[in-house]
Amino acid sequence: MSETLSIDTLVVGGGVAGLFTLDALVRAGHAALLVEREALGLGQTTSSQGILHAGVKYALGGVAGDDAQEAGAAAEMWRGMMCGEGAPDLRKVRVLAREEFMWRTAGLMGAAGMLGARMALRTRPEVVGAADRPAWLAGVRGDVLRLGETVIDPRDLLARLADLHGGRLARAEVQSIADGEVQARTTSGVLSIRCRQVVLTAGEGNEALLAMAGLAATEPMQRRPLRQAMVRGALPMVFGHCIDGAKTRVTITSDTCPEGVVWHVGGELAEQGARQDEATFLQRARAELAACLPGADLRDAEWSSYPVQRAEPRTAGGRRPPSTHVLRHGACVAVWPVKLVMAPRAAAQVVQACGAGSGREAIWPAHVPAPPLAPRPWETAAWSRFE
Ligand SMILES: Cc1cc2nc3c(=O)[nH]c(=O)nc-3n(C[C@H](O)[C@H](O)[C@H](O)COP(=O)(O)OP(=O)(O)OC[C@H]3O[C@@H](n4cnc5c(N)ncnc54)[C@H](O)[C@@H]3O)c2cc1C
Repeated sequence: MSETLSIDTLVVGGGVAGLFTLDALVRAGHAALLVEREALGLGQTTSSQGILHAGVKYALGGVAGDDAQEAGAAAEMWRGMMCGEGAPDLRKVRVLAREEFMWRTAGLMGAAGMLGARMALRTRPEVVGAADRPAWLAGVRGDVLRLGETVIDPRDLLARLADLHGGRLARAEVQSIADGEVQARTTSGVLSIRCRQVVLTAGEGNEALLAMAGLAATEPMQRRPLRQAMVRGALPMVFGHCIDGAKTRVTITSDTCPEGVVWHVGGELAEQGARQDEATFLQRARAELAACLPGADLRDAEWSSYPVQRAEPRTAGGRRPPSTHVLRHGACVAVWPVKLVMAPRAAAQVVQACGAGSGREAIWPAHVPAPPLAPRPWETAAWSRFE
C-alpha cells in the first residue's frame, strides 16, 4: 500500500535531538511528524549517563570556555522544564540524583584540575567536609567537591517526550530524500511524505541520510568510539567524576536494577577502552575503579561492557566539537546536539532555521506502527564475575 501525506516538517531520527525538535516544531505551529528506523534513542541517547552538565567537567583546564558557559545556559533551560516553568513540562522525568561529587586521585595534576573547576565556573562547586561525604568516598584523599548537577534517566526522558507526541511518531525506514518529498517504508506499506523541510536528527545515521540527500560532502561527520563499563550487585548509588589533571579518569552514574544497583562508567576509561577487547577492558575497569574508589567492595560484583559511538560534526583533529551543530542546506537541516543537555537548545535553533509553521496539525494514519523505546544498556547485557 502506498499513501501520500502533506506536512510542514519531517523529523528523521527519534533520539533526544529528534524528540525535542519535534516538540519545539509542534509548539511553533508546524504540522510536524517524526520517523524512527528502529527504536527511540537507540545509539547515543539510551547510552547517555544522563548528566545535565552545568559546565564543570569542561572547565577542568582552569578556564570556563564557551562550551562551559553554553552548557551552563542549557542547564538553566532544564531547570525551567523540570519544575514546570518551561516547555515541554518535564516535571515527571525520573531524576536519579540532584548532585554529583568530584574527587581526585593523588598527584599535583589532580589538584590543578580541582582548582580550575573551583575558580572558573558560574555554578560554584562546594568543598565537602570529611563528615559530610558519602560513605562510598571513604578512603579518598584530598578535597571532595559537591556539584549542583542533576542526573536523569535518559530513557524515561524519551518516554515522557514520546507520550506528548504519541500519534506523531512512526517506525519507518527512509528510502529516499528529494526536494520536497521523502519516501519511507513501514511494515504496513510505503509512505510518501511531502514536506517543506526535513530535519535530520539520526545521530550516526545522519551520514547515510545526508548522502541520500546529496549533502554528504557539505556536512562531514565524525564518530568517537567509546567502551562503557557496567558493574552491578550490592553497591551504593554513586554519582561523580574522579579526575586527574584536566582528564576525567572515570565518570560513574548509577541506577537500580533487579540485582541491586548498576554502575554505568565512562570517562577516560571509556575513551581508551574503545581500542580494547572486552576481557582486557574489564581488567582495566576493575583496576581503575579500585584506584578511584579505594573504599568500594567489588568482590561479588558482576561486570559487563559495551561499545558505542558518539556521532558529531567533523572537527580538526577529531576533537569534541565546542557546541551544538544545526545547519540548513536548502530544504534539509542537519542536527547534532553533541550532548544530551544541549538538545533543547538545538531544537530551538531548528525552529529558528525552519521559520513559521502553517498552524495545521498532523498525525500519522492509525495503521502506521509506532516505534518502541530502546532498552537501557544494562538491560540486555551479558555479565561475568572475576574468579
Ligand atoms: C556513553 C555516552 C554517555 C553520554 N553521557 C552524556 C551525559 O551524561 N550528558 C550529556 O549531556 N550527554 C551525554 N552524551 C551525549 C548524548 O548522549 C548525545 O549527544 C545525544 O544523545 C545525541 O542524541 P541524538 O538524538 O542526536 O542521537 P541518538 O541518540 O543516536 O539518536 C538517533 C536516533 O536516530 C535513529 N536513526 C538512525 N538512523 C536512522 C534513519 N536512517 N532513519 C530514522 N531513524 C534513524 C536511531 O535509531 C536513534 O533512535 C553521552 C553519549 C554517550 C555515547
